[in-house]
Amino acid sequence: MDLLSHIGRTPLVTLGRIGAGLGVPVLAKCEHLNPGGSVKDRIAKAIVEDAEARGILRPGMTLVEATAGNTGIGLALLAAARGYGLLCVMPEKMSADKRTALAALGAKVVITPNAPPSSPDHFRTVAERLAREPGCFLADQFRNPANPRVHELETGGEILEQTGGKVGAFVAGAGTGGTLTGVGRRLKASLPRVRIVLADPVGSGLADWVETGRVGPDGTYAVEGIGASEPPENLHRDVLDAAERVSDAESFAMVKRLVREEGLLVGGSSGTNVVAALRVAARGGLDGPVVTVLPDGWDRYRAKPWMQGW
Ligand code: PMP
Repeated sequence: MDLLSHIGRTPLVTLGRIGAGLGVPVLAKCEHLNPGGSVKDRIAKAIVEDAEARGILRPGMTLVEATAGNTGIGLALLAAARGYGLLCVMPEKMSADKRTALAALGAKVVITPNAPPSSPDHFRTVAERLAREPGCFLADQFRNPANPRVHELETGGEILEQTGGKVGAFVAGAGTGGTLTGVGRRLKASLPRVRIVLADPVGSGLADWVETGRVGPDGTYAVEGIGASEPPENLHRDVLDAAERVSDAESFAMVKRLVREEGLLVGGSSGTNVVAALRVAARGGLDGPVVTVLPDGWDRYRAKPWMQGW
């Protein structure tokens, strides 16, 4: 079996220490154990294979994507295996380790300022502009339906299988919304009482949007890959039941606990997800375990201030 066929089918582990004594178990899907080190390997493969099947991505073309880094790394695995070029557009907030990894994988990296969506310098706008060049294909993870679809078919299906069909709640942050929308849809199709909960960084406007339909004020936060000042097209509000707000300090403290107490070598958004999952479990009233995802690994953040001083 080649490397790409080892994407997905990740382990689901019980947080035996951190989640002890809550009434229902808290289970975490180890997406950091994918070949490229993140959940985004799944959508990189799905988007490339969908575009190849539709004939809009052909040999010799260049993949272009706006990415917090992880989708870029996933696309780099596909580009290497299938002989495509790769151009990644990344906001400057994202870690130097991700830039180094992309460069090492042979991708061209364009860094944009941390600009709002209305700005011509916003990373998605820049990627859309660059992808208009001949021979370029925009992966378009924020809008491409192949993203939520692979989570609905595969990630969601794996969770049902690994839990024996018993899930009380599913909790995750949203970058593109693909994980939450796709898994949420799949679980709701067979478990009418399951709760789908957004884990949102304090400073993102998405939690307010889930609760009221209006995006909350825009702030800054250090957790990477999740939260937004505008809802991405692939985050569908109709599958969401609630939101939990998690501060940077809570997220990063939880990463340290996940490493020390559970041996899970994960990145910042895993901390956000687990803090929110524990709160949902502690409130009770659920039909089964709380499931969350660990989107990426700690190796991506070694140079970040929050990774120092262990
Ligand atoms: N965590 C990290 C570190 C990510 O890079 C991403 C994707 N941007 C997510 C979580 C969120 O995943 P999704 O795009 O499926 O909402």
